[in-house]
Parts: sequence; structure tokens; C-alpha cells
Amino acid sequence: MRDVLEPEASRWRHLIDTFAAVVARAGYGQIMLPVLEDLGVFTRIGDATDVVTKEMYDFTDKGGRHIALRPEFTAGVCRAYVQHRPTTPWKVWYAGPNFRYERPQRGRYRQFEQVGVEVLDVDDPMVDVEVIALGWEFFSRLGLRRVELHLNSLGEPADRLAYTEALRTHFESRLDQLSEAARETLARNPLRVLDSKRPDDAAAIASAPSITEFWSESAAEHYGAVRDGLRALEIPFIENTALVRGLDYYRRTTFEYVGGTLDSAQNALGGGGRYDGLVADLGGPQTSGIGFALGVERTLLACDDEGVFPAGDSAVEVYVVDTTGGAEASLVAARLRAAGFSCEQAFGQRSLKSQMKSADRSGAQVAVLIGPDEHQAGTLTVRSLRGQSGQTTIDAGDLVEHLRRVIAVTCE
Ligand code: AMP
Repeated sequence: MRDVLEPEASRWRHLIDTFAAVVARAGYGQIMLPVLEDLGVFTRIGDATDVVTKEMYDFTDKGGRHIALRPEFTAGVCRAYVQHRPTTPWKVWYAGPNFRYERPQRGRYRQFEQVGVEVLDVDDPMVDVEVIALGWEFFSRLGLRRVELHLNSLGEPADRLAYTEALRTHFESRLDQLSEAARETLARNPLRVLDSKRPDDAAAIASAPSITEFWSESAAEHYGAVRDGLRALEIPFIENTALVRGLDYYRRTTFEYVGGTLDSAQNALGGGGRYDGLVADLGGPQTSGIGFALGVERTLLACDDEGVFPAGDSAVEVYVVDTTGGAEASLVAARLRAAGFSCEQAFGQRSLKSQMKSADRSGAQVAVLIGPDEHQAGTLTVRSLRGQSGQTTIDAGDLVEHLRRVIAVTCE
């Protein structure tokens, strides 16, 4: 788990604001979920999933309830849907931390942040297209150019089941071609063997049957419509039949955004898919759902690698220096903030030289000086801290007007 300090914290906030702007423009409303849920909410995700079986931070609270820190958002969104029964289609977005007891490395942490969307109760391939396009738009807004979109369909539940059994038969007859880890995965969930990036497993995976042979007519039709929709929007994608995704609840459309610059084990910037059975598993009516979640840390790493979306300038515009005790600085700072300027003031009744050093270090564009002369005459001295140095003394009442002119010029 990591601390996030400035300037990374501002960049992080800016990323979430960018995401919120993209999805709000498509009519998605924010949902804020608790970090803790009843353990049962997450066990519905699937007991063949590492996220649930191995990585969950779960414990018994003082009231004897078995609860867990959320490892992902989708199950909580579906739980909230069952509880509140909102009018549909229900289109929501979220941002916040998740917790998984994983082996930490670059791009993989035990507390990590996701942003995402979910749409409930629309069974139309065009909503798959909209959702996938929103993620694509977000990455473009950040300036990322090397993201790849991978697309697959896991078929209808019966198709997926038949495919899983075919994979089991295939891999069981080739146990000698599988790594120890893949054999373990096979016992729990044959689909996930396809996720293995180990060279030992490559041959057995390459000769495995393909999901496309198991698609029912309706699944193939849905997939075809999604592909056509993405092409119409000129969003490039790679058809990847090995894309099964980590969580067990996916049906039909699955997709992943893959970063072009990251190590292959951590190159997924985000992903999602359709989960038409999850709401019913949580005690609600049969409801279709689709969504994605994107990792904030990994997205920022990809931005670093591509040299885009730099941390912004978080310095204030004005720094107030006061050698007459500091009370007047408080008034001036409050007046400037009320007028919309960002403004810091010096504390601790230090010397002019020491306060000016702080002003320089703050990165502010101008310093406003209050000394005994100004105090007496009802004036203020405005000194430029960037570019051409220089200072002027003005009537205290003219400060806001004056700074509006000066700061506009300095920003140009
Ligand atoms: P998932 O919910 O596993 O599909 O993850 C969606 C996205 O969340 C991934 O593509 C990553 O960007 C991010 N993510 C998942 N697990 C972690 C982790 N342990 N640390 C950092 N990011 C993660």
C-alpha cells in the first residue's frame, strides 16, 4: 500500500476528473459504495477466482459479521441495484480504492484505485459498444496512443460451460505440457489456464480449442453487432479468443485495454465485459449488466512511459508576505481567495528575507508585501516572482483589479 503525495496526488485527481467528465457527458451518474461489504457479496463473484479465494482481506467484525474490504466494484454495484431497485437503464460510474492480497510489484499493489462504469438492465449490443468506446475515449483524452483494445466473447452460459469442459479434456490429456501452476489452475477453472503467460504452457494453449467453435447463434450475432459498432466508430480492436478475464461472472462480450509499454504480466490497464447473471446471483431479478474497471496506478505508469498527461503546476498564484505581525496578511489572503485567486501567506512572524525565501519556494507568480510603510499608508507592494522582476506599490483597495491584470499577463 502506498502513500500518494504531491504532485502525483493532483495528477491523480485530474485523472479522475477527466474520467468523470467523459462518462458524465454520456449520462452516467456517480455511485459511492462502502469499502466494506458482507463477504457473501464477493463470494458470488465465483469461488474459482483467485480474487475471492486467495486475495481477499476478510475478517469478522465486533458484531460477529464476516465482512471483506472490496476487491472490486461490480459486485457492490449489483448489490446496490438489488437493494435500491433504481429505474433502468441504470448507468453509473465510480472511483475509489480496492484491496487484494497480491504479491506487490510495479503496477500491482495491495491497495489500488479503479475508475469504472456499469450499465444494468440493457440487453443491447450497442450498449457494449458505448461502454467500450467510453474507455477508449478516456485513454485518448489522457493522450495515450499505444493502448490496444482486445475483444472476445465467452458465449452464452451454456456455450461457456461446454467450452470449459472441452478445455478440461484438452488440458487433462496434456498434463505433461503444463507448468505446476497451470495444473493447479486447471483443477479450479480450465478457462483461466488460457491466461497463463508462462512459456512452459504455450504449446498446450496454442493447440487448445477456440471459444468461437462453441458460440451459439445468439452469442455470435451479439459479438458481430459489437464488432460492427466499434468499426463504425473507427475504434481499432484485436480479436483475442484467449481473453477470458479473471472474474467468473462474465458472459458474452469481454474486453481489455492493454498498455503498449508495460511488462506483460501487468500490461492490462483495465477491462470488463457482460455479466448477465450477477444480479440474479445476488437475489435480484434476472438483469443484464456490462461494465469495465480501469486501474489508476497502471494508467499513470502508461502515461509516464508515453510521456503524456504530466503532473500539472499546483503552485498558488499569490504569496502574501507581512512583516507587521501577520494579521493584515490574513485579511488580504481571505480577500484574494474570495475573489478567486489561489493564495498562500507566510506564518511565524519571520524576517522579510526569510518570508521572501518562502515566497520564491512556493512557486507563486507574485508576492504581495505588507511592511510598516504600506501598513501606515494603506498601500500594498506587488512584486513579480517570475520572469521580469519588478514591483509597484498600489492602494490596498485596488489589489484585486491590479492582480487580475498582472496575473493574466504572467500566465501568457
Ligand atoms: P480486474 O478487476 O482484475 O479486471 O482489474 C481491472 C484493472 O484494475 C486492471 O487492468 C488493473 O489496471 C487494475 N488492477 C487490478 N489489480 C490490481 C493491483 N493489484 N494493483 C494495481 N492495479 C490493479
